[in-house]
Amino acid sequence: MDIDKLFAVLGVKAINSGAFNGVWLKTSGDVLDVHCPVDGSILARVNQAGAGDYDLVIKSAEKAFGIWSSVPAPKRGDIVRQIGLEFRKYKDELGTLVSLEMGKIKVEGDGEIQEIIDICDFAVGLSRQLYGLTMHSERPYNRMYEQWHPLGVLGLITSFNFPAAVWGWNFAIAAVCGDVTVWKPSSKVPLTAVACITIANRVLSENGFPGAVASLVVGRGKEIGEHLIADHRVPLISATGSIPMGRRIARVVGERLGRSILELGGNNAVIVSRHADLDIAVKGVFFGTIGTAGQRCTSTRRLIVHESIYDDFKDQLIASYKRVKIGNPLDPRVAMGPLIDKDAVAVMRAAMKGVIEEGGRILYGGNVLATEDYLGGCYIEPCIAEAENHYRIVQDETFAPIVYLTKYKLIEEALAMQNSVPQGLSSSIFSHHLREVELFLSHSGSDCGIANVNSSTSGAEIGGAFGGEKQTGGGRESGSDAWKYYMRRQTTNINWGSDLPLAQGIRFDGP
Ligand code: NAD
Repeated sequence: MDIDKLFAVLGVKAINSGAFNGVWLKTSGDVLDVHCPVDGSILARVNQAGAGDYDLVIKSAEKAFGIWSSVPAPKRGDIVRQIGLEFRKYKDELGTLVSLEMGKIKVEGDGEIQEIIDICDFAVGLSRQLYGLTMHSERPYNRMYEQWHPLGVLGLITSFNFPAAVWGWNFAIAAVCGDVTVWKPSSKVPLTAVACITIANRVLSENGFPGAVASLVVGRGKEIGEHLIADHRVPLISATGSIPMGRRIARVVGERLGRSILELGGNNAVIVSRHADLDIAVKGVFFGTIGTAGQRCTSTRRLIVHESIYDDFKDQLIASYKRVKIGNPLDPRVAMGPLIDKDAVAVMRAAMKGVIEEGGRILYGGNVLATEDYLGGCYIEPCIAEAENHYRIVQDETFAPIVYLTKYKLIEEALAMQNSVPQGLSSSIFSHHLREVELFLSHSGSDCGIANVNSSTSGAEIGGAFGGEKQTGGGRESGSDAWKYYMRRQTTNINWGSDLPLAQGIRFDGP
């Protein structure tokens, strides 16, 4: 792999600026070493943004908003269409960069860029469908309707595990809505951000629009992130990350009565019924637990399996785990790459210790792979543990490939377990029993934002609104009508008569 060539194609340098507002600024923050989880090497460096750089970025974004918000929405859609085309050209290279920087396998890296392409396509259509309703007024010769206006400069805070796609979901929708965005990526994966912003801005500038429509600030959450969330010039923060981070953002943005879209941690369960097709169930669980090395917000964390098939299911799952090839994520034979860093490995090992202390047992895996084949990267076997749903460790999201297996007798009991966690992102049932499935999907079934039948907890499509309930934060982004969060709604009344009728029949005789 010729990394220098890859970087040259994508506009990534050995030392990169950490702030873009139409030009790459000469930034004043500390230097950030960007580590490659594949082998622990330093991929490149970023000169992070300082407070002054941040302020310049926001000022340019405010100016860009004045221009961009005046462009007709279908024209904005056309620019987003061109951006999608540009991402198509660089899908392979960008997918490789995602793999190198984050550690997910190449097909998943490519899949992330495909999500950007898909959401651009979705947004193009949306740009002609930012509909408001028209209502019949109770007043004669009056017309009432609602319209949607652009909101302003939006702050996008993203997590390490989706270095590209989460920005894409937010940027493409925000852009057709007439907003401009300032992206603060995770400091673990800033190079993908540099590459994505370079591509988006090539298209914007070729079309004569300011680069500050899609800006970037790289810096620590506690410094640059805090500036962004406290900033009155930023009416909406869309933040993806852990629950503690979301709590902090909700407090700070709430204090200034700003808006936030919070996409936080999950603790996703799969119910495997005795009416399941076990083949599909094992495949779905395998992808849900091993995919992205268990580092997806929608990764399967808990398995609630009917007692009559428990042993059979457990044996089949362990057999499939034994076949997993772990290693370099760019090797097409590999199914699971490294974890993002040594801390993530330590967190997983601590969870394994925790589950044993609470009375559970490790059924498979969890060994750190530290031979020379693994080149200093953070490789660990995926782990299956037997545990009770109420254990403290099971109630938490451990962001690693560890899954907890537990038994149930009655479907009502399985549903109660599935809902008895603080988080509410994704859920699945494997069953061909109509009544069980409908119960799972009913108001007294899954309490999650996403409910799947005979399908993995992972792998959402961009067409649906994505997000979760309870401590997952309640936000929705991507498809369906999630665009409404990115605009301001205005209810309008036009009186075209020759009198001034008042609502509720009020007579108010003026002068
Ligand atoms: P994290 O909370 O450590 O960081 C996420 C982002 O928040 C980073 O960019 C970080 O710099 C920033 N941040 C941290 N503190 C901040 C502050 N005080 N002010 C502003 N910004 C701040 O999360 P992570 O480890 O990068 O990602 C893993 C977590 O993200 C998991 O909990 C996972 O479930 C969650 N996640 C959720 C979704 C979803 O859509 N629900 C998607 C992906 C990841």
